[in-house]
Amino acid sequence: MQRLAIFGGTFDPIHWGHLVLAQTALHQVSLEQVIWVPSQNPPHKQAALFEHRVEMVQRAIADNPGFTVSLVEKSRGASYAINTLINLSAEYPNTHWYWIVGLDTFQTLPRWYRGQELAQLCDWLIAPRLPGGENIAQSELICKEVEQKLTQQTVSIQWHLLNIPLVGLSSSLIRNLCRDGQSIRYLVPESVRLYIENHNLYTNG
Ligand code: ATP
Repeated sequence: MQRLAIFGGTFDPIHWGHLVLAQTALHQVSLEQVIWVPSQNPPHKQAALFEHRVEMVQRAIADNPGFTVSLVEKSRGASYAINTLINLSAEYPNTHWYWIVGLDTFQTLPRWYRGQELAQLCDWLIAPRLPGGENIAQSELICKEVEQKLTQQTVSIQWHLLNIPLVGLSSSLIRNLCRDGQSIRYLVPESVRLYIENHNLYTNG
């Protein structure tokens, strides 16, 4: 049985924090591949066009055979993680599934659409990531709280905290820097920086 991970996100834009996370998961869990799944444009926030975000992911991961992009969310109206897993399971049968998330995102899992069901369909690979830069012990405690919440709803979940350096980067930081006319060199891959510059992304709004 192959071991694949889904890495969902808005990737608006992709940055080194995402890449370090996906690469760490690939190696620490001995995955065959990480499937990057850019989400459709979220209704609650203004994001760059799906096509731009996909293109930036493609450029950033082009030289890594362990990474691939899926456009599974392209044609869907609402972007639900459970549907992504169901669709990808049909595309990649005989797979043990993992889901890669930052701790901030993992904390919201009990509130996701059909989150209880999804929680049990894959193993969760979690990157410590909190505004206060909490340490591993605190991150583990937070994961256990999420597990407890789900257990109370008779949901069992397998999770694993990745051993990863904290990368204090976010897409919003990149967008803000662009908006302020500041350099994003060394915060995103050079191919992504050039794409943003050439397409004039994130300069206003
Ligand atoms: P934004 O700042 O717009 O909210 P983001 O940087 O969180 O964006 P997303 O595309 O929303 O990027 O994130 C996709 C996934 O990657 C989420 O699970 C998120 O928690 C995780 N992630 C993003 N950046 C980091 C980081 N620096 N360290 C660990 N996890 C991260």
